Amino acid sequence: MSEPTAPTVAYAEGLAAGELRFQHCTACERAVFHPRVLCPHCGDAEPGARVALVNGNGGVLSSQATALLGTAEALG
Ligand SMILES: [Zn+2]
Repeated sequence: MSEPTAPTVAYAEGLAAGELRFQHCTACERAVFHPRVLCPHCGDAEPGARVALVNGNGGVLSSQATALLGTAEALG
């Protein structure tokens, strides 16, 4: 039996190789992104059993930038 790996390992290895990888749940056959230990669609405990590559035809649906307002004194 192989050692379990964190869901982020395959994702991080993909980034290092210049690839965007996502989990593909074998229970419900849906994509899972960002890396998780449970499938957000069906609750399966191994959504990372199969990892797929993004084929380059995707788009960004949303993004977020966070700015910290205030001064260091206000933060305590
Ligand atoms: Zn699932």
